[in-house]
Amino acid sequence: MSHLIHRNLRRTPPVAVRAQGLTITDSAGRTYLDASGGAAVSSLGHGHPQVLAAMHAQIDGSAYAHTAFFTCEAAEELAARLAADAPGDLDHVYLVSGGSEAMETALKLARQYCLEAGQPQRGVFLARRQSYHGNTLGALAVGGNEWRRRPFAPLLLDVPHVSPCYEYRGRAEGQSTDDYTAALLHELEQAILAAGPENLIAFVAETVVGATAGAVPPTPGYFRGVRKLCDQYGLLLILDEVMCGMGRSGTLYAFEQEGVLPDLVVLGKGLGAGYQPIGAVLAREHIVRRLRDGSGAFQHGHTYMGHPVAAAAALAVQKVIQKEGLLGAVTVRGASLRRMLRAAFGQHPHVGDIRGRGLLIGLELVRDRASKAPFDPALKLHARIKDEAMARGLMVYPMGGTIDGRQGDHILLAPPFIATEAELAEITGRLADALRAVVAISQ
Ligand code: PLP
Repeated sequence: MSHLIHRNLRRTPPVAVRAQGLTITDSAGRTYLDASGGAAVSSLGHGHPQVLAAMHAQIDGSAYAHTAFFTCEAAEELAARLAADAPGDLDHVYLVSGGSEAMETALKLARQYCLEAGQPQRGVFLARRQSYHGNTLGALAVGGNEWRRRPFAPLLLDVPHVSPCYEYRGRAEGQSTDDYTAALLHELEQAILAAGPENLIAFVAETVVGATAGAVPPTPGYFRGVRKLCDQYGLLLILDEVMCGMGRSGTLYAFEQEGVLPDLVVLGKGLGAGYQPIGAVLAREHIVRRLRDGSGAFQHGHTYMGHPVAAAAALAVQKVIQKEGLLGAVTVRGASLRRMLRAAFGQHPHVGDIRGRGLLIGLELVRDRASKAPFDPALKLHARIKDEAMARGLMVYPMGGTIDGRQGDHILLAPPFIATEAELAEITGRLADALRAVVAISQ
């Protein structure tokens, strides 16, 4: 019996003992091809020598020094680099230990900003259904994943949720994409007015929706419209790029492709690429200036914030991405993988949609392509796909999302940026085998 509390309390997963490139090996000697980067984390693959060397060097120098007393070169250099590579005046970086912690940080920073602007009545966030912003209570409250929220509902902040930008499901038959986008923006404006703009702190959204809906990119102009409404009604815009940021969408920040500048950006996962737990919040100058000129301090903090080894790892990851030209690789390999997936599943009776940005790709599974009806949730298709894929030595990230109150299934693929064409073809082939096995038993 394992004393460790695993995600599944009835099952202990295989024991990972070695990892290199796209391959993880377990204690029984079985190997798995990592087509999901864990959960869209491992952007450089496993065992990258430059990242390991940077971590070793930091450990040998100073493994830990509390931020109440010291800063460290790695954290300073990482912050400077993230700010320099971000558009506009996103010049300030707060380093924490993961995505949820980063989201909590952004929520509190936004609230304190309002307070110091002399607007203490601003106490409500606005967010979207079918979103995931983390599992801590603040992040869970702004998130729109019903299944995750339900057991903890009495503990959550009251957050109004609007429709996600989810064209495959949301756009009506015969409706143009522009009209669909306009309808979403109209709904958002109505929600702002219903809550009272003077009560709102910020609108929170994932630039490209990750796990909850399966790599759903926004429609053209959606975020420009959102930004306009936020400006018009005095809300901050917080973009969650924990999954889609740090190059995974083909640009360092996914919002660069939307032509908008958020006030706060939330980062995690690919920031440390799995080498260390690290998350970050990027903040624009006007946010930090208000606190600097006001109380002089952000009333927040964690023991492990700005951890030197985590910062050193993340800094090395950023350097590798630049040195190896991996942003370009994401765009090229993402297009390749989508081409392969379309060839394999474009006509598949149970694959309703293949979508995504860069190397964040989703396949939505449907019982019937014409009606887009999802499979019966009792079949737990996503869980079966994960098992069948693992049995074939393939890691993918399937999820059950909620579609208009009903459960649906999708598969998320997020391979490391270093994946070769041959590895992408192998991923597609093994996924086809797994899907065949699952669909056969689900009929
Ligand atoms: N935000 C998004 C978009 C995520 O996908 C996740 C994790 O999957 C989080 C926040 C939470 O990050 P973490 O699991 O590191 O707390």
